[in-house]
Amino acid sequence: MVEPVKNVSLALSECIICHKPKEEGIRIFGQMICLDCEREIVHADVGDEAYSRYVEEMKRIWLSALSLSHSIDEMN
Ligand SMILES: [Zn+2]
Repeated sequence: MVEPVKNVSLALSECIICHKPKEEGIRIFGQMICLDCEREIVHADVGDEAYSRYVEEMKRIWLSALSLSHSIDEMN
């Protein structure tokens, strides 16, 4: 029995916060934050677990983006 594959496409990206494949989200430096997590973050307080998780992930993305642009600078 073969399950029909529906709503699955290569366009799905994994959300960096909840790690679920989602179609829609905000893209930052080639990473994606899904709309659910974005909403959660927007309504989260600074002390919330969701918020600190978001900050940690953003730091990681930011640092990798920085090191990426650094290596490009060195090439020029
Ligand atoms: Zn998410």
